[in-house]
Amino acid sequence: MTDYDTVSADVEHEEEIPEDHPRYQDLLTRHRIERGVEKGITHLQGMHAEGRGSAFDYLLGEETIPSADDAERAAAAHLLLADDPVLSINGNVAALVPGEMVELADATGADLEVNLFNRTPERIGAITAHLREHGAEDVKGLEADARIPNLDHQRAKVDEDGIHAADVVLVPLEDGDRAEALNEMDKTEIVIDLNPLSRSPQVADVPIVDNIIRAVPNMTEHANALTDAEEAELRTVVEEFDRERALEDAERRIRDGL
Ligand code: ATP
Repeated sequence: MTDYDTVSADVEHEEEIPEDHPRYQDLLTRHRIERGVEKGITHLQGMHAEGRGSAFDYLLGEETIPSADDAERAAAAHLLLADDPVLSINGNVAALVPGEMVELADATGADLEVNLFNRTPERIGAITAHLREHGAEDVKGLEADARIPNLDHQRAKVDEDGIHAADVVLVPLEDGDRAEALNEMDKTEIVIDLNPLSRSPQVADVPIVDNIIRAVPNMTEHANALTDAEEAELRTVVEEFDRERALEDAERRIRDGL
């Protein structure tokens, strides 16, 4: 048994996970999801989503591949160009990157909206409080006074002045039905998902095939670098991004290791 094998899945604090562990990011991700479930932020189903993501990240080599970096830059440019950008937060997103989503919102002028597949007032409250602990001021998602067309009642709920009115929306780790329905609302949709074959990245205008714990800080870095760019430069970044190529590159890396 190596020392690494003694890093049990249930460490008390994430600082106990050695940063030089070959699967550090995976252990960190799993730890944050487990804490999310304990805190009532993440639904148990979020653990299954995490397991699927973990397998794809292993095959990607747990790194941001160049086409994902391009997608993250294009996503940052879209958010900066938007009139009403919104970042959607579900239970896994809140557990994995709460402070990082607040930083991305600050860097791009976007709103944060809690948007849950398994929606209960308790979980909405727990996630809102968790985001506030990580520096969020305004958090949308409590009103739920509008509906996404073509979805059943519970899953369709959004804020009228949030996701419903947004022109650019970031929906990380989103369920395929909702990603499709949002796309039909004629919004620019940015998806973060480690599985390039999943429906959500397949319908997205900007599919980011990367672990959210790497993708969000990298988007913030790009947004900060582009913050003083002219509109024309931002439009060029958006236009030069090739979504088909990004999806193909990610699939090739996963299937062939290339
Ligand atoms: P579909 O979108 O076709 O309905 P699905 O049922 O596999 O696919 P969900 O369970 O709704 O999708 O969402 C989980 C998705 O999130 C998976 O595709 C998984 O790869 C992805 N995922 C899980 N953890 C992460 C993470 N840390 N970063 C990025 N993506 C992740």
